[in-house]
Amino acid sequence: AGRKQRAAARRKAFSLFVKAKEVPAASRCPGGGEGVRWRCCRQAFEELPGIHRHVALHHSGDVGRQAGLGAGPAEAAGPAEAAGSPTGSAARPSGHSCGSPEISWTLPDTSHVSQEDLTSVIFFFVNIHFLFAYLCHAVGSQVGDVLLYYCYCEVRDPEKLSAWQKALCQHLHLTGKVRVASEGINGTVGGSKVATSLYVKVMLSQPLFKNILCQEDFKSSAGGAHCFPDLRVGVFKEIVPMGIDPKIVSYKETGIHLSPQEFHREVEQYLSQATQGQSDTILLDCRNFYESKIGHFQGCLAPDIRKFSYFPSYVDENLELFKDKRVLMYCTGGIRCERGSAYLRSKAVCREVYQLKGGIHKYLEEFPDGFYRGKLFVFDDRYAICSNEDIISACRYCGVLWDQYKLCSSQHCRQLVLTCPSCCNKGLTACCPVCQEKELKVTSRASGQILKEECECTRRRPRVPIERVSPRMLDTGK
Ligand SMILES: [Zn+2]
Ligand SMILES: [Zn+2]
Ligand SMILES: [Zn+2]
Ligand SMILES: [Zn+2]
Repeated sequence: AGRKQRAAARRKAFSLFVKAKEVPAASRCPGGGEGVRWRCCRQAFEELPGIHRHVALHHSGDVGRQAGLGAGPAEAAGPAEAAGSPTGSAARPSGHSCGSPEISWTLPDTSHVSQEDLTSVIFFFVNIHFLFAYLCHAVGSQVGDVLLYYCYCEVRDPEKLSAWQKALCQHLHLTGKVRVASEGINGTVGGSKVATSLYVKVMLSQPLFKNILCQEDFKSSAGGAHCFPDLRVGVFKEIVPMGIDPKIVSYKETGIHLSPQEFHREVEQYLSQATQGQSDTILLDCRNFYESKIGHFQGCLAPDIRKFSYFPSYVDENLELFKDKRVLMYCTGGIRCERGSAYLRSKAVCREVYQLKGGIHKYLEEFPDGFYRGKLFVFDDRYAICSNEDIISACRYCGVLWDQYKLCSSQHCRQLVLTCPSCCNKGLTACCPVCQEKELKVTSRASGQILKEECECTRRRPRVPIERVSPRMLDTGK
């Protein structure tokens, strides 16, 4: 008897919640987009299904409490799990339902796909002639794809999601890295074109992501399974390691998303103001120094930090810089900005924080010759992908223009080095003189030693640089 009543109460609370997020008609047009009818969690919604989905996914706990059902976040009930529509079949026992849908264990049917199409590597074993196989390899490196994607959502059973991901990737012969956490999933995987497109299809049909992920959230570039040494799938606390508990700084507090076009326009405006020295905007590259070194947006502020987990301290140490500023943030695919902007916002010093939706990846698809110059660093064996011919960095040793990274030749060092072919030929293959010397001494012993994350040359750098009041950012001429 109570079940129907509870469902009705929930439906009512749901519509009230949505109603409360309505943008008053009078204030709709100026400033914001014309079609915006609802706003919630700093996101704008133009259509009813959009706001319904959002509330179902992120506010089921609030709705439950408003309905007087006393549902805590752990057992918070969504109105209708997948569709997220309050008018759907809502009569479910609230005690057993949950805001995030069950993970479905789906593996695609690959029986109709040939091994060649699935792997694009099998080629080598099928072809008898070695030379021909070698040629196939050269061509083969272009036939596959590398996908990059993330999805912030509430994952109730990260272990299960991780196990399914592992099975799925193995099934499709994909390599790469997939991070799962209770805050979502983040992956970069490589494989044949057939395999990666099957992967996308299955991911889009997974109930957990169904209403959040869409085709264009997958950024793809030429590559393949050979771009990664292996497959790594695991459960972590965060899907991108910022080092801050997602319960303290949540992706839900993120900055305002700008499409590549909107971002382009903002950068254009910023650059025209900045050359006259009157900008109230900071264009912030939130990637690591070695990424922004070989490619960045003109006029950006690129923090000299070695990893993303230093970003929060960078913000803390440079708060004054961000005071009353509009901040335009960007990163590779957008994921670091999601929580990076949330962190910056949590400091309550900026006027507003914006982020580039889909990151540089999506920007370059629309503006290959826009304000982003140089190469896009990627975390796989390709090191970088290219969209324009500019080279904006130099050889560490002779200063000639050069942007192709190599791993330091010293056995136990993981630093990347920019050393041009002629310096390489002279034997300058390490990241710094210290490593270069070490390499000569330590030739073949102690192979069991673990790779060191830091080298003498990076340990001497300040971990978190303090920017001067007028930041080193205007390289608009480049
Ligand atoms: Zn919301
Ligand atoms: Zn050189
Ligand atoms: Zn080194
Ligand atoms: Zn070094």
